[in-house]
Amino acid sequence: MELTEIREGSTVIRVPVQDMADAFPPGTAPVFFNRRMELNRDATVLLCSVVQPSDYLDAMGASGIRGLRIAKECGSTVTINDRSPDAITLIRKNVAGSGLTVEILNRDTNALLSERSFDAVDLDPFGTPAPFIDAGVRGSRRFLFVTATDTAPLCGAHLRAGMRRYGALPVNTDYHSEVALRILLGFVVRETVKYDRGIDPVFCFAREHFIRLHLRFTRGAAAADKTLKRLGFVLQCRTCQFRREEEGLVPETGCCPLCGDRLVPIGPMYLGAIRDPEILKKMLDQIGTLELGTSKELSGILTLCSTELPTSSFYDYHRIAKSEKVSPPDIGTALERIRTEGYAATRTHFSGYGIRTDAPVPVIVRAVSAR
Ligand code: SAH
Repeated sequence: MELTEIREGSTVIRVPVQDMADAFPPGTAPVFFNRRMELNRDATVLLCSVVQPSDYLDAMGASGIRGLRIAKECGSTVTINDRSPDAITLIRKNVAGSGLTVEILNRDTNALLSERSFDAVDLDPFGTPAPFIDAGVRGSRRFLFVTATDTAPLCGAHLRAGMRRYGALPVNTDYHSEVALRILLGFVVRETVKYDRGIDPVFCFAREHFIRLHLRFTRGAAAADKTLKRLGFVLQCRTCQFRREEEGLVPETGCCPLCGDRLVPIGPMYLGAIRDPEILKKMLDQIGTLELGTSKELSGILTLCSTELPTSSFYDYHRIAKSEKVSPPDIGTALERIRTEGYAATRTHFSGYGIRTDAPVPVIVRAVSAR
C-alpha cells in the first residue's frame, strides 16, 4: 500500500495514495480516507475537548484518523477498531508513528459492542449507520456519535431504501436536509428507548454530503418516555407550504386548512431540540484554543446553530418567491418583516435560503413578496 503523510488538526498520519482519476477516490483505496470529512472530525474533536469522555471508541477506524485525533488533541483514552486487516496494519503504523498509547482491535463492530462498553462510541461507517445503531446504543455509556452519508435514502430521494433502513417515510420536501437528520435521529431514538434510556441531543448538524449526530444518553424509563414523546410526524400539505407537527406513533391524516389538499405524514422523526445550547456555547468559547483546519466554517455553523429557533422544519423563501412570481428580498429583510408582524424568525444552518419561524404561512408569504 503506497502511503502519503497528511496533517489534520495537530495530528499527522499516513493514508493510502488515492487514484484521483476515480469518481470517488476514497472508495477504491485499500483503506478509506476522505479529506472532505475534516469538518465532521473537527466538530467531534471540539466537542470531546469540552465534554471529555473518559474513554472513546473509534468503532470503524479505517486509517485511525478519528481515534488518533481524539487521543492527541483531547487527551482521551482511546480504542480504535476495524474489521479489515489492511486497516489494522495502517492503524498500527499510525499509532506507532504518533507515540501515543492507543488500544487497537480487529473486531466486527457489532460483536465488540455486544461485549464491551465505552463512555463514548463513534460510529462513522461508509454509507448507512443503520446496521450498527442497536449495538452502538448498548455499547455506549454516555455518548453516541453517528455519521450517515446515505442522505438520498434519508431525505426521500431514494424512498424505498429510506423505508427499509430507517422504518420511516421520508418524503422529499424543501426542507429535505432537516427531514433526513430527524428521520435518522428518530431511528436512533427507537433503538434507544427499548432499553429504558432516553436521548439528549448535544450537537446535530448536516452538511451537503453527510449528517452528524452527537447524542448523550439519559437513564430510566421516565427519561425514555420523555424522549419518545418528541417522536412524531410533520404533516406536510401536498400543494402549499402549510405543515404542522404531530407527536405520537400513529399519524393523523387530514386536509390543509389553507388550500384543502391532503396532508402527507413524514416520519416518524424526532421533533425535539437537536442541540444543547450550553455545550454549544462552551464549544464556541473553546474553538480558538484548538488547531482546527475548518475552524472558521465550524464556528459559523455553531453560531448559526445556537441562534436557530427549535422548530422541526424550515421554509425555503426562494421557493416561496418563485411560486409567488416575485424576486426574493435578501434574507435579513424577509426575517425582519416577519418579526415586525410579531413572530420569531431566524436563519438555519441547513440552508442559506431557509427561514425558521412560528409565523403562519400567509405572514411568511407576505414577508417574501412585499415590495
Ligand atoms: N471513520 C473513518 C472512516 C471509516 S470508513 C474516518 O473518519 O476516516 C468505514 C470503515 O469501517 C472501513 O475501514 C471498514 O473496514 C470498516 N467496517 C465496515 N463494516 C465494519 C464492521 N461490521 N465492523 C468493523 N469495521 C467495519
